Amino acid sequence: MKIFVTVKQVPDTSGKVAVKDDGTLDRASMQTITNPDDLNAVEAALELKDKYGYKVIAFCMGPGPAMIMLRELLAMGVDEAVLVSGREFGGSDTYATSQIIAAAIDTYGVEKDDIILAGRQAIDGDTAQVGPQIAEKLGLPQITYAGEITKEGNTLTVKRILEDGYMMISVDTPCMITCIKELNTPRYMNVQGVLEAFDKEIEIFDYNKLKDHPLIDATTIGLKGSPTNIYKSFTPPQKGVGMMLKGDGKETTNELAAILAGKHII
Ligand SMILES: Cc1cc2nc3c(=O)[nH]c(=O)nc-3n(C[C@H](O)[C@H](O)[C@H](O)COP(=O)(O)OP(=O)(O)OC[C@H]3O[C@@H](n4cnc5c(N)ncnc54)[C@H](O)[C@@H]3O)c2cc1C
Repeated sequence: MKIFVTVKQVPDTSGKVAVKDDGTLDRASMQTITNPDDLNAVEAALELKDKYGYKVIAFCMGPGPAMIMLRELLAMGVDEAVLVSGREFGGSDTYATSQIIAAAIDTYGVEKDDIILAGRQAIDGDTAQVGPQIAEKLGLPQITYAGEITKEGNTLTVKRILEDGYMMISVDTPCMITCIKELNTPRYMNVQGVLEAFDKEIEIFDYNKLKDHPLIDATTIGLKGSPTNIYKSFTPPQKGVGMMLKGDGKETTNELAAILAGKHII
């Protein structure tokens, strides 16, 4: 019984966001963190491990320094970590990224009881495409926006959180579930975990390891295999400072109506 968790290392956008002249993120000059939704996915995996004895394996596609993040996940209680890395994979858009991660997980081996967890969305790319695309490429059912996961036998029941309510959906394993922050509060690393994390091997899946997988060829990975073309990227102008109206409901409503009328909006 395995849970694969896909985890992305992202620039910390809570501080100063550095943008290059061409409009792309200056990733090298920014601190990196584990993508927040992915920590919720890791926590969900560890809770299922604590209850049912799953083996939890984290998969990250990224450059060498992502190892540090993977060691932190091992210190939280993840059993194994795999870094999918190679210059052939560089420049991949979401289509190629999910192609490569799907091939990597499939190479490790997906069995009947297994679950794949991803974050809903990465805070840098922000597309929320990678999890669902991995499911499509592996031919697995998927449930997105999981705010609660329960298990009975091989069936998982997921509370799928929507803006105006929720859906309860049951799914058989193997399946893909994407996780949101409402799902749980991620645990901290523990001292024993930190000590053990440095003794564990992090396996690297490079191009040679994956090149014979049916999802991988030069036309489906890296920049060449990425159908996305970025026409233009720019930093939107900052919005002006908002206006606060003070007073009771009647006063502020009248004041707002007068302002809108003055601007010929109403
Ligand atoms: C033309 C083009 C070239 C690009 N070149 C590069 C590049 O050279 N280097 C680069 O870093 N980015 C590059 N990107 C960005 C890259 O495509 C996205 O960062 C990546 O595909 C993930 O998409 P996202 O950030 O929208 O993730 P989302 O789809 O929002 O992420 C959802 C979830 O998927 C999982 N996930 C996403 N990405 C990864 C990952 N890498 N490893 C493990 N799990 C993951 C996580 O669980 C995450 O929470 C490029 C994009 C384009 C369009």
